[in-house]
Amino acid sequence: MKQPTIHFVGKQQDTFVKSVQLARYLNQEHGNTIVSSTNVDPAVGDAWRILGPGMFGVKVADCLGVVLWETSREFPVYAIHSGWRGSKSGIVAKCAQELVSSGADPLNIKAYFSPSAQACCYEVGAEFMDYFGTQFVVRRNGTFYFDNIAYNVAALTDLHIQAENIQQSSVCTMCNTQFHSYRREGTSKRNVLLVEVGQASVEVTHH
Ligand SMILES: [Zn+2]
Repeated sequence: MKQPTIHFVGKQQDTFVKSVQLARYLNQEHGNTIVSSTNVDPAVGDAWRILGPGMFGVKVADCLGVVLWETSREFPVYAIHSGWRGSKSGIVAKCAQELVSSGADPLNIKAYFSPSAQACCYEVGAEFMDYFGTQFVVRRNGTFYFDNIAYNVAALTDLHIQAENIQQSSVCTMCNTQFHSYRREGTSKRNVLLVEVGQASVEVTHH
């Protein structure tokens, strides 16, 4: 059974220039809309519901990129953009619920969490305790920090996805200058979560 191939491309894009250019992207809006890969471009949304072979991209600079798939089936695969707004609107849980509804056994679901702004740096306002609960907001020296990763891990384990099946990057994009960071650099540049599924189809034209 084929599994998705996942790359997270930061500032060092040399090896992946072609893949980054070839990938399909959504017009992301920090919401919780899931778009099927069978849709015609351009599509607005923050998660791909990948139903066929191809290369799909999610652009992030501090937001969390997530991939969800089931080990016993090639499709669907979900590629998700979840900053705090997406997390607040439950986009990762929404995709996981959909995957389960489509017949996936939660015990066979795997997840990948990309580098993102982590609780070491992700400074937020006190209102985040209302949004996410006190357990996902760390308080240090009177300042609040959001743990977007822990929040989304909990969202998945609540759906009986196993913690050991969630592969989490330990890299914080705000600490690690190898990656674009909106909060550190105010940049419009983005890291790319690349998800390659199946064998990209080769179109052959007969004359
Ligand atoms: Zn950090």
